[in-house]
Amino acid sequence: MGSAEDDSLDELAHRVSAARAATEARGETFYQGASRVHLAAFPPRERWDDWVELSSRAWPTREERHYTLVPTTCFNCESACGLLAYVDRDTGQVRKFEGNPEHPGSRGRNCAKGPATINQVTDPDRILYPMKRAGPRGGGGWERVSWDEALDALAARIRAALAEGRQNEIMVHIGRPGEDGFTERVLASWGVDGHNSHTNVCSSGGRTGFQFWMGIDRPSPDHAHATVIYLISAHLESGHYFNPHAQRITEARANGAKVIVLDTRLSNTATHADYWLSPQPGSEAAINLAIANHLIQARGYDREFVRRWWNWAEYLTECHPGRPVTFEAFEEILAGLYADFTFEFAAAESGLDAGVLAEVAEVVAGAGHRFSCHSWRSAAAGNLGGWQVSRTLFLIAALLGAVATEGGTFPNAWNKFVPRPVHVPPHPGVWQELSWPPEYPLAQNEMSFLLPHFLAEGRGRLDTYFIRVYNPVWTNPDGLSWMEVLRDEDKVGCFVALTPTWSESAWFADYVLPMGHGPERHDTHSYEQYDGQWVGFRQPVLRAARSRLGAPVSDTREVNPGEVWEENEFWTELSWRIDPDGSLGIRRYHESRERPGEKLTVDEYYGWMFSHSVPGLPERAAAEGLSPLEWMRRYGAFEISRGQGAVHEQEVPQAELAGVSVSPLGRVYSAAPPAADPNIVPAGAPPPDEAGRRAAGVMVDGVVRRGFPTPSGRLEFWSSTLAAWGWPEHALPGYIRSHVHPSALAPGQVVLLSTFRLPTQIHTRSANAKWLDELAHTNPVWIHPADAARFGVGRTGDLVRVETEIGHFVAKAWITEGIRPGVVACSHHMGRWRLDGGPRGAGGMMATVGLSRGDDGWQMERRAPAGPYESADPDSQRIWWTDTGVHQNLTFGVHPDPISGMHCWHQAVRVRPAAPGDRHGDIAVDTTKARQVYRDWLALARPAGQVSPDGTRRPRWLMRPLKPSAAAFALPGADRDRP
Ligand code: SF4
Repeated sequence: MGSAEDDSLDELAHRVSAARAATEARGETFYQGASRVHLAAFPPRERWDDWVELSSRAWPTREERHYTLVPTTCFNCESACGLLAYVDRDTGQVRKFEGNPEHPGSRGRNCAKGPATINQVTDPDRILYPMKRAGPRGGGGWERVSWDEALDALAARIRAALAEGRQNEIMVHIGRPGEDGFTERVLASWGVDGHNSHTNVCSSGGRTGFQFWMGIDRPSPDHAHATVIYLISAHLESGHYFNPHAQRITEARANGAKVIVLDTRLSNTATHADYWLSPQPGSEAAINLAIANHLIQARGYDREFVRRWWNWAEYLTECHPGRPVTFEAFEEILAGLYADFTFEFAAAESGLDAGVLAEVAEVVAGAGHRFSCHSWRSAAAGNLGGWQVSRTLFLIAALLGAVATEGGTFPNAWNKFVPRPVHVPPHPGVWQELSWPPEYPLAQNEMSFLLPHFLAEGRGRLDTYFIRVYNPVWTNPDGLSWMEVLRDEDKVGCFVALTPTWSESAWFADYVLPMGHGPERHDTHSYEQYDGQWVGFRQPVLRAARSRLGAPVSDTREVNPGEVWEENEFWTELSWRIDPDGSLGIRRYHESRERPGEKLTVDEYYGWMFSHSVPGLPERAAAEGLSPLEWMRRYGAFEISRGQGAVHEQEVPQAELAGVSVSPLGRVYSAAPPAADPNIVPAGAPPPDEAGRRAAGVMVDGVVRRGFPTPSGRLEFWSSTLAAWGWPEHALPGYIRSHVHPSALAPGQVVLLSTFRLPTQIHTRSANAKWLDELAHTNPVWIHPADAARFGVGRTGDLVRVETEIGHFVAKAWITEGIRPGVVACSHHMGRWRLDGGPRGAGGMMATVGLSRGDDGWQMERRAPAGPYESADPDSQRIWWTDTGVHQNLTFGVHPDPISGMHCWHQAVRVRPAAPGDRHGDIAVDTTKARQVYRDWLALARPAGQVSPDGTRRPRWLMRPLKPSAAAFALPGADRDRP
């Protein structure tokens, strides 16, 4: 007997049949709708070759439009949701993008930014041809050049640098990666440690806390099956993996799950929470510890999980040598460790009500193993010591035993899959100190935002500097220090912007090379969005459509607009030109395996990967008579597995245990070296020991289990790494008072939250998406009414001057009760600008500014707002807004956390009514003061030369996107002045 749902589907199918018969009896064509039955949400995949819709513009005439539907992946945030391009079979053009129902992460759904991809493709302001600077750098002169000319010039520079041993003068700086390992592979093939990222201005604070627990730097919450969801950010609208996560949080809520949101600002997510906690910024770890303490004092934790999986024995051995190494002794100590973190203490730190915190703690305690949690940017990215926010958050999950359980929180590597590529070059033998400086041996990622200061103080120079999906002048704090070094040809010899659009940074480039948007390029990716593993395939949709229609394409430029290319083909071509005869050993990593001596094509690269490295895909494809590449080109994503479960509990098979040795604390090492050691970080691979032996597992109650990829093999409540590398006082989950703690504020200062996103914006790229611009285009300063009265700000819309330690910006006020008193907030998305006389950039979102330097530093004043303009798109004449916000990041000094390396974004500011003569968007910055702020924070660091326990620059087990050889980890002798 069928279910009620089956019955209603049968009924529907019956009605559809009847409607079809009636329509056809009238001699008319029957339109079945988007599925086998009416009103289904998505086109069924068997009809993607010729999908028919009626033209809405032709109504009431029934005019058919025939589409071939081609999957690709959205590139407008890190979630990598599936898209379907609707390619018009008559015109060969993409008419729209909608969700790909075959994608296991996004399941056919997208946020507003997904469909807005069509705006980026048809953007009238995009860059269509390679451009070369003509005249002085930043002077605004450009000339069109051929790809050949640009490639030859860059190849000659790079070849000379490599030949002269200047490997560290080559750098590729990446904003949104949107792929898994291609760029790292290229750089490894050149033998350079030249990968730089944006992660230390983004998520490394959040990552660090998870990494020191699990050896894996991201959580993978199973929101859909949780009963309590604890979020430190605005995850339903804009947080990490927000569409794939938000739809699963929504399902859980429909099933009765409670949602707890810590966010100082009343986000859309907070409005949907059962408990919205608006804490004093920086107090989040204290709240987490009060909840943890409640679980400990009430014995509300999973004792068996803690006993089996925490490294308590190591902690006792190292930190309490006089105590017996028993779990009972540990529990006794644990009971005292967090006893000071009462609800009253957390209330005093956070400004929240102790009773509410106690109630929330009870809700958390009731979750058991169904406690899913996430913290990513937000507080972890805002505060000195912010990494302890995620470390204390995971403490709660680890106490509950809600780790890799249904409804719990997984290590991300278990819910992610990175296929191995066709060629894997060796680790580079050099170490790039401009990205991995000795002061920050534990930094989670490259110290990217300090680059201008390192260059300015002569730590090195860059011969050839690429940026890709990255706008450092605008995205980073202290952007005018960036501008100063990017204009200096002694510091940056050749600056290359790989970009689809003009930006504040591209303006200072020597070459601007047009790269494709999401549907104009190839990438693979896989992200943790539920308890399963999938691989997604981004592809140039017109290339795939043409191939499907029988006209294969061999170079993506053939189908992209103008001479827009894709990076993968560009990097392969550039690598060949750097090493034309193969004598540098580079070319072989970019050669075909099938046709030795010929260039590796993207078809072969991905064809090999899908055929050899994705379990189950070849069989699945064969069942449909397709090659694995054809299958991925057709459907866009493949689910490898579902229900990974508790990988740490898996027993290591006896066959893997021959010749192993076991450390006193149970770490099991194999005599064999690591089987595969690719440069692309194998997420979740256990670290080798000092002798290079491979960690094979961990002994738990006499059984060797997979465990976690930490030095101990267990969850590290106490981090031997932090203890050994100079930070023993922070080796346990703890609370570090923020640089914006109330006690650190001067009289009259308040905290500025500058880290939040708008749900419809894409950092630096949404300015070229007109629908998104219309939805959100400004960033007023949120001010509580009590503060507005205190500051003397009368009304919403009044201008305020926000003063930071290095300058000020002038913005509009938004007086709202959606923010704590004593805290103001401003979204980081807005305030795009173009220099007067420069390229239009993004006509609807960039104000025209003048920039000058006087005795007091830099002054930026607004010369013209955004407004209507003529272009190939008639909509550009319909721009009705002029207020595009303020670029606040320019006025922030750099704040590197001494442990995680994260830039601590929150600012101590003064807010006052604008001065006479102030105009909206005005900026003033003194980069001399910025240099002093850099030095002040640098002084907090503990350099490897002083703390390294083994003469290396960095613990080898910590992740690096591109890992140098073991030899490159050795500290140069001159740096080894340890006491
Ligand atoms: S969440 Fe939105 S922007 Fe991000 S990948 Fe998905 S559709 Fe694109």
